[in-house]
Amino acid sequence: MTKQQHIGWDFNNSYTTLSERLFAKQLPAAVPNPKMVCFNNELANTLGLDFSTVSEDEKAQLFSGNLLPTGATPIAQAYAGHQFGHFTMLGDGRAILLGEHLSPNNKLFDIQLKGAGQTAFSRRGDGKATLRSMLREFLISEAMHHLGIPTSRSLAVVNTGEKVYREETHEGAVLTRVMSSHIRVGTFEYISNFLDVATLQDFTNYVIQRHYPELAKNANPPLALLKAVMDKQIDLVINWLRVGFIHGVMNTDNMSIAGETFDYGPCAFMNNYHPDTVFSSIDTQGRYAFGKQPEIVQWNLVCLAETLLPLIDKDADKAVKMAQELINSFPAIYQEKWWQMNGLKLGFTSISDKEKQLIEDLLSWMQNNQADYTNTYLAIANYHQQIDKKYTAPDFAQWHQRWEEALKTNNISLTSALNTMKQHNPAFIPRNHLVEQALDDVCLKKDATLFNDLLITGKSPYQAQANYKHLQTPPPDGDKGYKTFCGT
Ligand code: AMP
Ligand code: MG
Repeated sequence: MTKQQHIGWDFNNSYTTLSERLFAKQLPAAVPNPKMVCFNNELANTLGLDFSTVSEDEKAQLFSGNLLPTGATPIAQAYAGHQFGHFTMLGDGRAILLGEHLSPNNKLFDIQLKGAGQTAFSRRGDGKATLRSMLREFLISEAMHHLGIPTSRSLAVVNTGEKVYREETHEGAVLTRVMSSHIRVGTFEYISNFLDVATLQDFTNYVIQRHYPELAKNANPPLALLKAVMDKQIDLVINWLRVGFIHGVMNTDNMSIAGETFDYGPCAFMNNYHPDTVFSSIDTQGRYAFGKQPEIVQWNLVCLAETLLPLIDKDADKAVKMAQELINSFPAIYQEKWWQMNGLKLGFTSISDKEKQLIEDLLSWMQNNQADYTNTYLAIANYHQQIDKKYTAPDFAQWHQRWEEALKTNNISLTSALNTMKQHNPAFIPRNHLVEQALDDVCLKKDATLFNDLLITGKSPYQAQANYKHLQTPPPDGDKGYKTFCGT
């Protein structure tokens, strides 16, 4: 156990210098028989961590929480949040933050063990996670990263050798989640509701220093913070819409201040285009449906704004007015970026009313024809190699002709349009039926072939690969009945 000095951990642990009411010190629970299942070498390199002299056994000890990395100060973070619109006290119930590691390019990363046992915030939960759900998070979070979308990442999955009981008995696992921080809208809500304004001020200063240092000199840093988070979250949700990602549980405790996607519990990718698409078993009202996501981002930002009011201005009315003005600018900024994104998916670098009409007509066509969201853009680009009859039908052929004419009017060559499109339209997304099949194979048959193939295609999602063509095919019966579950 002496090899750790070569790994390169550089823990900073600034969170533990904040108010003691923001966290509870908590060691990870010991597990009986940890075995490495996945390890992300590329991410380890980015973090400046070298495990080449560390045995698989020792790695399993480290990433299960049995052995602490040198310099770690494990804590569970306190936070609250609006879950499906209702305010609740939460906190890390099964995640333990080992500390913040400083990477070679001077960036801080939270290193967190998810499924590492009970904490002061577990309520009735067991603090554990199943192998299946942690592998799912590993696969999808890494796919999101390579799609170019800000996200938490996954460094390792360890099988703990312990059983975890849900509706059925599962193998237990710990996932090492890496993120620029786990500070959420819900962290601000916790402080605003349960602590005092002085703590809120200190914490806000800390968040600005950590994530938006350029705002410290702003005339009104808390208002500037709200604006910065809004901009990041708009960009994030636009990215989700671009690739057909449905987060599934956009509660305020799952919305990061740094604008990164996280909490991969009930998320899924849309196959057939429809804005009402919902997969989460508990989202019975469709609050977090595909097309509702921007509206929910705005709703969550209102929650953040409310917590910041006392810092924005001592005069409460003035503070409300300033925050409101900012939040009211959301729809126009969002809408403009949404058009831009949709334009780029079709090869346009600027958008006029004519292109807007083309975009709207395409989306309606997809919705009315149960067309696959991902493959439709590939079909537009590879129009003369169709196998799917949908795309040779007269209505689509007509649309395609209008699109070609619009490119000409804009002086955009087909080659240049295709180049732009290739950067914005993935060939590979982790399709739900394949992800589930891969997890069945690993967990039930100990066969990681499909899981590894999905990791490979996920690493270069914009690049079609002839030998993985079968991973581009949607399920034959659409997504009928597909359901996802939270925190299993
Ligand atoms: P999530 O749905 O992952 O955002 O979790 C909501 C809340 O439930 C958070 O406070 C989690 O830490 C907590 N939680 C989820 N699963 C468990 C578990 N197995 N044991 C304890 N707490 C949990
Ligand atoms: Mg969560």
